[in-house]
Amino acid sequence: MDNYRYVILGGGMVAGYAARELAERGIGRGELAIVSSDDAMPYERPPLSKGFLRGDEDEASLFINDRAFYEEHGVALHLETTVEHLDSSGRKLLLRGGGEVGFERLLVATGARVRTLDAPGAGLVGIYYLRGLDDSKAIRAAAQESRRAVVLGGSFIGMEVAAVLSQLGLETTLAFPDDRVWKRFFTAEMSAFFERYYEDRGVLLARGERAVRLHGEERVEAVEFESGRRLPADLVVAGLGVTPAVEVLDGAGLAIDGGVVVNEYLETNVPGVLAAGDVANFFDVRSGTRRRLEHWDNAVEQGKHAARVLLGQREPFVHVPYFFSDVFDLSYEFWGATEGADEVVTAGDVRSPSFSVWWSRGDQTVAAFVMNRPDEERALAQELISGSKPLPLPLRS
Ligand SMILES: Cc1cc2nc3c(=O)[nH]c(=O)nc-3n(C[C@H](O)[C@H](O)[C@H](O)COP(=O)(O)OP(=O)(O)OC[C@H]3O[C@@H](n4cnc5c(N)ncnc54)[C@H](O)[C@@H]3O)c2cc1C
Repeated sequence: MDNYRYVILGGGMVAGYAARELAERGIGRGELAIVSSDDAMPYERPPLSKGFLRGDEDEASLFINDRAFYEEHGVALHLETTVEHLDSSGRKLLLRGGGEVGFERLLVATGARVRTLDAPGAGLVGIYYLRGLDDSKAIRAAAQESRRAVVLGGSFIGMEVAAVLSQLGLETTLAFPDDRVWKRFFTAEMSAFFERYYEDRGVLLARGERAVRLHGEERVEAVEFESGRRLPADLVVAGLGVTPAVEVLDGAGLAIDGGVVVNEYLETNVPGVLAAGDVANFFDVRSGTRRRLEHWDNAVEQGKHAARVLLGQREPFVHVPYFFSDVFDLSYEFWGATEGADEVVTAGDVRSPSFSVWWSRGDQTVAAFVMNRPDEERALAQELISGSKPLPLPLRS
């Protein structure tokens, strides 16, 4: 059995940034191993639904650290290695196909898995989900041979993929069950802006549509919705959300509740075992509530934070949640969390691609969406939310 002082279970974004932090803080050669099902070194996922999918970015640009980094710091990469079980009392990971990896301290970073379609015909060729590099490559290749795409799901993955497929020249329909796009997050005005922006660029919108059947012989030919409507398609991409990847932890004694339950130090209930990123249901000291975030920034910052806690620097994770997305030629950013907000204020013109939206609870600013606004607004968003400050008057007028 290989034994390491530190092991990261999962080789995604958390792993890439945690490994870099551990290396920068001077761990010894041979002290760290990453065990990952992936066949690639840890890479950035956001480009998979943006520049990489469009064909503007190459694979080499995705890697969080290059191969020389792992060699130089003596970090062992166990790729294409799936962990079947965590034996927390034996301090080891049991691998599929046999073999074990022992650890003194473990960081669980298994991320999340896509929700798949539960409908007749879901197994037809031409239906894709997007989580990893291979998925993005496969969709890109399929797009070259397709004419009509239906993208299912009106949140950020669906919106990004629909934008790219339309830019690649496919006749694209974005279909979603709600009456407006990304209803859970956007205000009605924001949805209206994005819907117009998509329609102006040729994307067809199918609102209030839930897919119930996929038609075709071997390959998908059409999507049928609950309403009875049918849309022809030779490419279907489903962005139906994700669930935390916790199956590997069954029976390991870790508390699981909508993710791996960790405290404000990202520690699980098993001593020396931490969790971070998409899989972690962490105690957020800022809001006094539990959260599980599926954001790039959360994976980066929790990865680095967990690395420091592994090294004995035991401090709480205190961080304003942050998210970004790019669609067509637009880039927007979002800070904070809208829950419990009792006031929403918009600055700029929400019918133009330059506006910001501010959520407050009482006299505290709790969240902000900023798109193509002066840099001062970006800085202000971070300052107001991290300091729980009120929205200044000029933004209210
Ligand atoms: C296409 C796409 C676009 C995105 N765009 C944005 C964006 O624009 N903005 C934003 O804020 N966020 C975005 N995100 C979200 C962001 O990428 C994730 O939050 C981040 O990747 C989470 O990192 P993680 O390390 O927790 O999980 P992951 O990066 O998913 O890594 C999980 C790792 O665990 C491995 N693993 C799981 N189970 C096992 C096992 N049993 N044995 C071995 N290995 C295992 C997996 O193979 C993988 O290597 C996007 C995500 C995707 C998929």
